[in-house]
Amino acid sequence: MGKKIIYMDHAATTYTAKEVVEAMLPYFSEQFGNPSSVYSIGQSNKSVIDLARKQVASAINAQPDEIFFTNGGTESDNWALKGVAFANERKGKHIITTAIEHHAILHSCEWLASRGFEITYLPVDKYGMVSPEAVEKAIRPDTILISVMYANNEVGTIQPIAEIGKIARDHGIYFHTDAVQAVGHVPIDVVAENIDLLSLSGHKFYGPKGTGALYIRKGTRIQNFIHGGAQEKKRRAGTENVPGIVGLGAAVERAIKMMPVETKRLASLSDELTRELLKIPATHLNGHPTKRLPNNTNIIFEYIEGESILLFLNMKGICASTGSACNSASLEPSHVLTAMGISHEIAHGSIRLTVGERTTEDDVKYVITALTETVAKLRAMSPLTPKELRNVQ
Ligand SMILES: *Cc1c(COP(=O)(O)O)cnc(C)c1O
Repeated sequence: MGKKIIYMDHAATTYTAKEVVEAMLPYFSEQFGNPSSVYSIGQSNKSVIDLARKQVASAINAQPDEIFFTNGGTESDNWALKGVAFANERKGKHIITTAIEHHAILHSCEWLASRGFEITYLPVDKYGMVSPEAVEKAIRPDTILISVMYANNEVGTIQPIAEIGKIARDHGIYFHTDAVQAVGHVPIDVVAENIDLLSLSGHKFYGPKGTGALYIRKGTRIQNFIHGGAQEKKRRAGTENVPGIVGLGAAVERAIKMMPVETKRLASLSDELTRELLKIPATHLNGHPTKRLPNNTNIIFEYIEGESILLFLNMKGICASTGSACNSASLEPSHVLTAMGISHEIAHGSIRLTVGERTTEDDVKYVITALTETVAKLRAMSPLTPKELRNVQ
């Protein structure tokens, strides 16, 4: 019998919901046909892909023929950036993005820079917020693409996407948003928000890993990224991941249905975590106080290391993160916190707790107690802790 695990890292990944797995199962075995085949077990899989396309489209107010299935958020981000860059390079080679994007965006931009594109990385304020005025000021005659994430994966800050979308549209510049953290968690409307391209990923909303989609507004000039067969209207080659696509569709429909009730519940759990943890001295909330993902709590504990906190929490069965899973092998502080103007020393003391569907009130209370004890213990051991904070519970 294993010890109870309290999972507070839903921004890193979620488990696949039971009903989503059940919807997928037939497509691994009985319904295994290739959708490109002429016989009926292949053809019927074409119609379940079309259903999933409708489910994804309706979640963001897109048309089904504007949805292209990919193998996840990273591929969608790569396709959007590189595909738009090379399809529009005759107009210009300038791209605007932000300093706080996911590495799928930042590293794609670095690669594009090595191919002669020029990238402007917009700064953010202390809440991790991009200013629409700064976006507008950065626009040049050769700007071809603006890419701003919908919500940040570390600190949860939700960007003024509709305002940025309007600016991009008014200037005739394509607007992409990495909405991997937002889809299924906050309402999105690609028409109202003037979004031309949007990345989403199944495993961030209780769908399977390795599934995702790129929304491409009709008429957008974009090159193909994966070359091969004629799948996805000749836009994205490769035999379709039928079970994955079915799971993605089922998961997004389920998430949208649950959102109104679940958002309130998650926000109240998150708010309790934030409120109680901020009672510990020398702590700060990272990210915007209100314009943030409902399930995200990100706190700095001064004088101690986030990595040490995680190890102690792990011994108590709690899964959390420093908010920068990708950086955990290096000692670099998070590029997001650094961009928010947080100094290297204190950025190292940050912890991200992201609650989810199975998180209970008891879990939250347990984590508050465990973290309060852990912080006190680590501060008592840390040579950096000022005298007045030692032995403070
Ligand atoms: C998780 C994540 C990605 C990557 O998505 P994968 O499906 O894991 O490739 C991209 N952007 C953001 C903001 C994410 O949180």
